[in-house]
Amino acid sequence: MEHYKITLSSDDVPTQWYNINADLPVELPMPKNSEGKDQIASLQKAFTKAGLEQEFSQERYIKIPSEVRELYMKMGRPSPLFRATNLEEYLNTPAKIYYKREDTSPTGSHKLNSAIPQAYFAKKEGVERLTTETGAGQWGTALSLACNLLDLDCTVYMVRVSFDQKPDRKNIMNIYNGDVYASPSENTEVGRQILAENPDHPGSLGVAISEAMEEALAYDEVKYTLGSVLNQVMLHQTVIGQELKTQLEIAEEEPDVMIACAGGGSNFAGSLFPFIKDKIDGNSDTQFIAVEPSACPTLTQGSYEYDFGDVNGFTPMLKMFTLGHDFVAPSVHAGGLRYHGMSPQVSLLTKEGYIEPRSAHQREVFEAGITFARNEGVLPAPETTHAIKVAIDEAIKCKETGEEKTIVLNFSGHGMLDLKGYASYFEGNMLDAK
Ligand SMILES: *Cc1c(COP(=O)(O)O)cnc(C)c1O
Repeated sequence: MEHYKITLSSDDVPTQWYNINADLPVELPMPKNSEGKDQIASLQKAFTKAGLEQEFSQERYIKIPSEVRELYMKMGRPSPLFRATNLEEYLNTPAKIYYKREDTSPTGSHKLNSAIPQAYFAKKEGVERLTTETGAGQWGTALSLACNLLDLDCTVYMVRVSFDQKPDRKNIMNIYNGDVYASPSENTEVGRQILAENPDHPGSLGVAISEAMEEALAYDEVKYTLGSVLNQVMLHQTVIGQELKTQLEIAEEEPDVMIACAGGGSNFAGSLFPFIKDKIDGNSDTQFIAVEPSACPTLTQGSYEYDFGDVNGFTPMLKMFTLGHDFVAPSVHAGGLRYHGMSPQVSLLTKEGYIEPRSAHQREVFEAGITFARNEGVLPAPETTHAIKVAIDEAIKCKETGEEKTIVLNFSGHGMLDLKGYASYFEGNMLDAK
């Protein structure tokens, strides 16, 4: 029988997160203060204790609290694994293509996998409200829902241009009971200062981070959260890869190529770190590919050095691939892939040769996304189309060489709230640069 879809039962939701810190081939460089500042102290005040502990833990496996595991189940985990047989036939390739469906989360992406535990640990520590920033809106949406499930207030600072361009995202955060403010806002000192100078300031992730952090630093009952880049976020997302391992065993498949898009690195890390462990241990020769937009080529063209996580230098410096903290990516539709830096763990593994980075142009990824939707039915998020583009490239290579490779990609989210991007593809308005 063909395996079109491999589902698991609630019991198969992992009981532990996998922490790659325990297995890295060289030690992960620690965050650093910049001269004359103590950003590490600020971060310690802004985050939950549990979050900080996980950030630096060397334990290989960390138990998932039963309440968190239960919420994972209630929100639909485990997510299914599908085989893209229509796409294979369309491409006329001997390769097999599988995709792990993180779009089946109620908020439409993998982000809820970290939003739930971050909200849970905050609640346990007596926190009353979480703050965060959001660009494209996926993280703000997931955190709004997680906070509502755990009876916490949630304040989201959304970059003003996105706030104005994406009213649907604000709407869905409101539905999940999140308070959304266009950033810069009147709520904070930083916001008021910027607005006094320029009432029409378009906002930026850097400004939004500053606003969200200012609140967490000012009030004891408020903490700050981040949806990617940090080790703890990579850790939480490993539920994806552990489920995927079980599913590939059921399908009796050994993956040859595994692919995910990379913005801050969390869906890549979550789906692939459990497999990269096998490679570090010398038990696998799977190829791991991280795909980013050519308009924001962090891993393919950035340098591996200490840099700030935000534009203003509020965060400690992290050793990572970076395009420079003042890099402003062109406004491509894959908003989730426009970050100047990359997870320090994903960066280190790329530096050490375990991960192969590739970049793709916006026009060609949308084309791949549409090909996928026409054959498989599911409409990918603009971010996800990057992984699809490379999966299609690899499948076409197999057609040329006759190799029957097994290709697996992480389908990080759906594109039903990103239809504007698809419309501009059909209108022929896609940025031609790069
Ligand atoms: C946020 C997001 C990304 C990029 O973030 P990572 O941390 O690199 O995973 C990719 N795909 C979707 C659907 C997203 O929402």
